[in-house]
Amino acid sequence: MKLTMDGKSLPFETGQTVLGVARANGVFIPTLCWHRKTGAAARCRVCVVEIEGMRGLQTSCTAAASDGMVVRTDTERVREAQTIIVQNLLSNGHHNCLACEANGRCELQNVAYWLGIKEWPVVPEPLLPLDDSSPMIVMDPNKCILCGRCIAACNQGVVNEVLTIARRGYNSLVQCDTSVPMRDSSCVQCGECVQLCPTGALTEKKAVGKGRDWELEHVNTTCAYCGVGCQLTLHVDRAKNRIVRVDGREGVPPNDGMLCVKGRFAYEFPSSGKRLTRPLVKKNGQHVEVSWDEALDYTAQRLSEIKTKHGPDAFAAISCARTTNENNYAMAKFTRAAIGTNNVDHCART
Ligand code: SF4
Ligand code: SF4
Ligand code: SF4
Repeated sequence: MKLTMDGKSLPFETGQTVLGVARANGVFIPTLCWHRKTGAAARCRVCVVEIEGMRGLQTSCTAAASDGMVVRTDTERVREAQTIIVQNLLSNGHHNCLACEANGRCELQNVAYWLGIKEWPVVPEPLLPLDDSSPMIVMDPNKCILCGRCIAACNQGVVNEVLTIARRGYNSLVQCDTSVPMRDSSCVQCGECVQLCPTGALTEKKAVGKGRDWELEHVNTTCAYCGVGCQLTLHVDRAKNRIVRVDGREGVPPNDGMLCVKGRFAYEFPSSGKRLTRPLVKKNGQHVEVSWDEALDYTAQRLSEIKTKHGPDAFAAISCARTTNENNYAMAKFTRAAIGTNNVDHCART
C-alpha cells in the first residue's frame, strides 16, 4: 500500500500510523508525548498534520495510514498550529532554560527551536514546590508538560505503578501514589521515568550543576553490578575524571534503556578515593601497599606452602558476579588445574 506525504509516494504496511510512515521514510514530524517505548498518547498534539478529506488537523501518532491517503506535514496551517501548541506548553510552565538541568537535551527546547519560537505569553503564576525528597530524583512540576511518558514508563515498562496525573485541567500534575512525596512512595528509584521525560521536569539529583550535555563525553559500556549485562551510556566529565550521569541505552538488548537503581545511580566507585588500586599485603599486623610482583610471588608461595602441608582441599575459591566471564573461567581453571581441588563457587549461588 502507498500514501502520498508532502508530494512523495511512500510505501507502508498494515498497522502503521502516519507518524510511523514518516519516521520510516525520513520525514520529520515533531513529537513530545510519543516515545517508541510508551507509544501514542495524543496528549501534546505537536505531531498534527493535514490529511486530505479529514476535517481539522489530525494527530499523526494516532492516525492509521491508509491506501491512497494524502498527507501534508509542512503547510503554514500545520506550522501555525504546532507553534501555538508549543507556545501554550511553554506558557503553562516556568521554563528558564539557562538554569535547567535538561538544557541541551530537552525535547521541548528542541521542538521550540525547530519551530523558530522566540517568545510566548508568560502567565505569571506562583511556582509550584519541587519534590526533591527522594535520594536520586528531582520532580519539578513547573517544567512538566503532562505528556504522560513517565506514567506509561512506570506503569507499563517498570510495572511499579507509582505515578498518575492528579487534579483536573489547569491544576493537573504528576503525583506519586496518593500524592505523597517521592521519598515516601512505592518508587524504587530506577529512573526509567527520568530517562523518558522529554523536559527538565524529572532530573537526576546527583548530576545537578555538574555539567551540561555538550560538555560531557558519552561512553557506552556494560554495567558491572550483575550478570544481566545491561547496556549503559556514561556521561563523563573528563577534566574532573568523574561520571556525572548514567543512561540506559535505548534499543539495545538486554535492557532497552531500563536500569535498576544501582546501574543508574551507583556510579561513584570508579573515581572513589577509597578504591583499592594497588595490592596490599599484611606485614606485622598492618596492610602495606606492595608491587604486583611482590603480591603475586607472596600469594604463590603461601598457596604452595598450604597445599603441601594440608593438601589441595584446604583451598577454596569464591568468584564474583561483578567480574568478567573470562576472569570467572580463569578462577575455575586455576582452582581445578593449578591447585587441584573442585572447591570453587560463585557469589551468584549464595
Ligand atoms: S524543561 Fe526544557 S524548555 Fe523547560 S526550562 Fe528546561 S530546557 Fe528549557
Ligand atoms: S523511578 Fe522507577 S519506580 Fe520510581 S516513579 Fe520512576 S519509573 Fe516509577
Ligand atoms: S514529568 Fe516529564 S514525562 Fe512526566 S508528564 Fe511531566 S513532562 Fe511528561
